[in-house]
Amino acid sequence: MNHSEPAPDCYFCRVSRGEADPFIFENRSFVGVFDAHPVNPGHALLIPKRHVVSIFDLDALEEADYFSALRGVKAAIEATDLGALYREMRNRDYLRDRPKDQIEAVLQLAFLHQRPDAYTVGNNNGRAAGRSIDHLHVIVLPRYHGDVPDPRGGIRNVIPQRAHYARR
Ligand SMILES: [Zn+2]
Repeated sequence: MNHSEPAPDCYFCRVSRGEADPFIFENRSFVGVFDAHPVNPGHALLIPKRHVVSIFDLDALEEADYFSALRGVKAAIEATDLGALYREMRNRDYLRDRPKDQIEAVLQLAFLHQRPDAYTVGNNNGRAAGRSIDHLHVIVLPRYHGDVPDPRGGIRNVIPQRAHYARR
């Protein structure tokens, strides 16, 4: 199958058609939604409307729309009352049969009502990198002072054994 053909059973194709998570952002090429399994308050996803598997498969138009979408998702996160969001998300009908542990967990966090201190922006681009749904999704993850004991290295920590190095 060609990578850009619609995939009938693809969850993010359903999302991008507006059939699942409500949009927090939309432009010509992308939609943004809040992740229903948040690892931190405001955890969002940027998803191309076209069924594209890899970030390296984006076409010129999508590339041109990418950074405005990223900024739009960031602005939407910062304009949202995240406590109210997760209290509402718990009750969404389409999430009825899915576990809510992560929603309950972020509702308990001391920094739930703070503005993000930083962002981790990333994409698990391939199965070996941890991608679980084969439709491109860029993770826009707000970060807060104290959310992990030692944030140094950030994305380097996906390979914990070699993440840390001594600076000269
Ligand atoms: Zn898809």
